[in-house]
Amino acid sequence: MTTTIPLHSAQSEGKTCQLHPQSMCPAFGSLRILTRIEGSHPVMATDTGCLYGLTFVTHFYGARKSILAAHLGTAELMSGEIVESTRAAIEVAAQEPGCQLIPVVSLCVAETAGLPEEMLPKRIGDAEVVLVRVPAYAIHSHPEAKDVALAALLNRLGDNQGAKDAKTVVLLGEVFPADPLAIDGVLRRMGVEATITLPGRAIEDLRRAPRVGALAPLHPFYKETTALFRSWQVPVVGGAPVGATGSYAWLKSVGSALNLDPALVNQVAEEERELAQSILKAQPISGRILVTGYEGTELAYARLLVEAGAEVPYVSTSIGADPLVLPDEMWLRARGTKEVVYRKSLEDDMVALNKYSPDLVFGTTPFASEAKKRGIPAMYFTNQLASRPFFLSGGMAATLSFINQTLGRSERYQWMQEFFAEPSRA
Ligand code: SF4
Repeated sequence: MTTTIPLHSAQSEGKTCQLHPQSMCPAFGSLRILTRIEGSHPVMATDTGCLYGLTFVTHFYGARKSILAAHLGTAELMSGEIVESTRAAIEVAAQEPGCQLIPVVSLCVAETAGLPEEMLPKRIGDAEVVLVRVPAYAIHSHPEAKDVALAALLNRLGDNQGAKDAKTVVLLGEVFPADPLAIDGVLRRMGVEATITLPGRAIEDLRRAPRVGALAPLHPFYKETTALFRSWQVPVVGGAPVGATGSYAWLKSVGSALNLDPALVNQVAEEERELAQSILKAQPISGRILVTGYEGTELAYARLLVEAGAEVPYVSTSIGADPLVLPDEMWLRARGTKEVVYRKSLEDDMVALNKYSPDLVFGTTPFASEAKKRGIPAMYFTNQLASRPFFLSGGMAATLSFINQTLGRSERYQWMQEFFAEPSRA
């Protein structure tokens, strides 16, 4: 049977076509954080079809453990054996050595999305069993799926009784491993006693998270998690320690949320600002850059580039618009960014590529490939930009030097384009 696409297609109306899939299944964001927790052995409840792609990607991201799943093909889904088979998979997971947590991930398929929580055990052996509902195609992006999974775990395991850790901060966001260490070092100089990074590897961090003195979302898409901390009356620090102005404002906000010594906070914040300003001066960026990706952190990167002197007319991201990301959008628009696109498609990015003639492009693989074909320096946002230090002055130095090196290679990209364009090589 053939499917007919309506004749009034987007292209015939002069709009960008939105019919092509833009990402693989967003649920891998959830699985990624659930599998990385030590002592966690996820069970997946969904159509077996989902399992193939998701387990592959989870291993690709270094989970180093198998996801257990009942075989649920169409016949099993229709026969109503889902609860029994999921319970059986939970029992197998509980026998894994050191198992302390079994997240049961129910995905899009209607029969498993409606898995009744009361039919699952809450504990088995030494392990907590936590139902994590991830209706992937309704969540839209893998960063937001991380938020959904983390919120489900915190909701169940977070313990807000007992003594508060009033001088402890939760840093919220999966970041380059050196970043939390650098942030922790600077915060301790202001009087912070400890930091917890979520999503992380320790179950204990999930338990003690509600008792901290402040939550600092480093990434702007943890909506459900942030709402949960607000419900525990934990103050939320806006912004992120990005660039000279962003880092200064963020350190002052942490100080005020935790009631730290204002003079000491001011001293540390000013030192950090001076350091950042000297890096900006030493490594200015000149050129027009498009920042596109699907990590949900694109606006923060664009902000750093603009602060360093780059022109960033266009930023796009896979996450939806939200009050958490609005300050960065306003900051960028006030400094010349013309378009900020949420829930972007590859086609949106292609229109921007034609429109703005950039000197450098950060984007998804297909977008970066198209730019390279045109002789424009281009990098894959996820693996080449988002995978290096970024926060505070140290992260800023690493990111800016990488970008300047890439901009300096523009002639090579043009040479490559000419090389492959020669008819004898076609
Ligand atoms: S049905 Fe849902 S969970 Fe399964 S692969 Fe598709 S989007 Fe992902």
